[in-house]
Amino acid sequence: MGGGSTRLMPSATLELALRFANTVAWHASAHAQESIFSYEDMLRWFEGELGASPVWTRLLAAQNSDAETASQLLVRILGLREVVFRVFSAQAVNERPANRDVSTLEDEWRRASRQLRLTHNEGGFEFQWEIDKTPLEYPLWLLAHSAVELLTNARALQRVGRCADPAGCGWLFLDQSKNRSRRWCDINDCGNRAKQRRFRGREQALGDTP
Ligand SMILES: [Zn+2]
Repeated sequence: MGGGSTRLMPSATLELALRFANTVAWHASAHAQESIFSYEDMLRWFEGELGASPVWTRLLAAQNSDAETASQLLVRILGLREVVFRVFSAQAVNERPANRDVSTLEDEWRRASRQLRLTHNEGGFEFQWEIDKTPLEYPLWLLAHSAVELLTNARALQRVGRCADPAGCGWLFLDQSKNRSRRWCDINDCGNRAKQRRFRGREQALGDTP
């Protein structure tokens, strides 16, 4: 990695925003469970998703030297995560997301886009993120760009789904099945519970008959 720039992550990041929304368990319920409690937790998550890079070490150092900015950014990124969750939850049931959420996302995306530079390399040109001035914002830019990339990709957008668990699992996914039949975060988790509920319901119904 040369200078203060880092490569724009490739389109494998299409799912990044959805995955980040899933850092809250039971996201669609009244008892949502947070898993990110610090800027560092958030960095570890991105590192786990996108792989090791000197950029994470650099951001870790930056958050240690400016803890206040880091904690303000954490609030902003977790806020954007909730926007992403609502936008794609609406999309999953073919509803139009709230205008307010879309414009928040647009604002963050526009801010992020100002940090993109067009740089020349051997093969031609490529995008690079300019992270020198405000390195701590970098994960926010990745999140905003991933969400907008997905939102503007009609084919992928049609495949956004949310776990059908009635208790509010809320897990978002890109349905890769041929006939778009995926309903659950995991067939062995919420899918299995639904099966057991149906089974119990049937047993109860049978038990009720004299
Ligand atoms: Zn689920």
